[in-house]
Amino acid sequence: MKVVLIGVGQAGGKLTQALAEFDYEMDFDAVRGALAVNTAKTDLQTLDIETQLIGQDRVRGHGVGGDNELGAEVMQEDAVEVMDGLDGKITAEAEAIFVVAGLGGGTGSGGAPVLVRELKRVYDVPVYTLGILPGRGEGSMYQANAGRSLKTVVREADSTILVDNDAWHDAGESVEAAFDTINRNIAQRIGLLLASGENVEGVGESVVDSSEIINTLREGGIACLGYASAAGGETAEDNINAVTSITRSALFTGTSLPDAVTADAALLVVAGRPDAIPRKGVERARSWVEDQTGSLQVRGGDFPLDSDRIAALVLLGGVERSPRIDEFMERARQAQEEQEQVDHTANFQNDELDDLF
Ligand code: GDP
Repeated sequence: MKVVLIGVGQAGGKLTQALAEFDYEMDFDAVRGALAVNTAKTDLQTLDIETQLIGQDRVRGHGVGGDNELGAEVMQEDAVEVMDGLDGKITAEAEAIFVVAGLGGGTGSGGAPVLVRELKRVYDVPVYTLGILPGRGEGSMYQANAGRSLKTVVREADSTILVDNDAWHDAGESVEAAFDTINRNIAQRIGLLLASGENVEGVGESVVDSSEIINTLREGGIACLGYASAAGGETAEDNINAVTSITRSALFTGTSLPDAVTADAALLVVAGRPDAIPRKGVERARSWVEDQTGSLQVRGGDFPLDSDRIAALVLLGGVERSPRIDEFMERARQAQEEQEQVDHTANFQNDELDDLF
């Protein structure tokens, strides 16, 4: 799928760059444009992709400090500039636009939903969000911000692919190390999904194409991606069981949103050397995904790739009724209440100080 990526905020910019780099190193050419937008100048200076600083009048390049309402306002005020900057980058060949952001911060959290809405007004291709949910251990400001951002961005975007920061890293890693692992995994796994259907020589009828990704995400709402891989056997026949077993792992343990299984639609992509991908195995695994997700719209296909490994990607569309999302929204609601109490106490103390002087 030919895409243009727009990262908003620090995490959004880092991830956009990581996705663009992976796509370039693998020679996929699925990423046709990449831009990072931020209110914090220093965050943009560390990136090699094109950047755009917004909100200079309001925050003078210093960022919005976790204030996502300010992030949304600044994006709205500078929307014309951002859209002008994108003019020419989003060409007719683009099949989708991805707005990438950490939902728990300020600039990405507030700015992404606004930018998605603006993009949808102008472009006919689907506008998706790739959103990062804060892990359970992150503070209440992050949880509350992400709750409001998620609610809004899901309303605006054609679909929102979520990566939970508690997934896609090893248990016990420090936050910093975990971010590096998660970012690498996002670049590779989301990168493979975007590239499936691209740069394929000798296209067969079982090869996945972009329309299958778009159709899987068509119902809107929240989506997630599962991934697992294994060493491949010599022949396709050798790999029948491997395909079933990696598909299982992708759905149950390799998912970007743990415990999200019930879905409106799904797409199973099996990547590997064309002669090592078993037709029968892919079909069997596809129908297993149908049983597990309870969806009758489960597509399946190959992604020919010159690798000794065999990998399964399971894209699930319409997972918003999952227990994980309920749990997160409850956590965000409680965090918002805590935040309000903190604000109230702060005001009270300020009032006291005012009285003294
Ligand atoms: P912004 O610059 O104001 O948009 O804020 P950030 O992009 O730093 O967003 C903060 C949120 O993004 C935090 O809640 C983290 O969950 C997440 N985050 C920040 N940096 C990274 C990163 O490098 N990788 C991942 N996976 N998440 C990050």
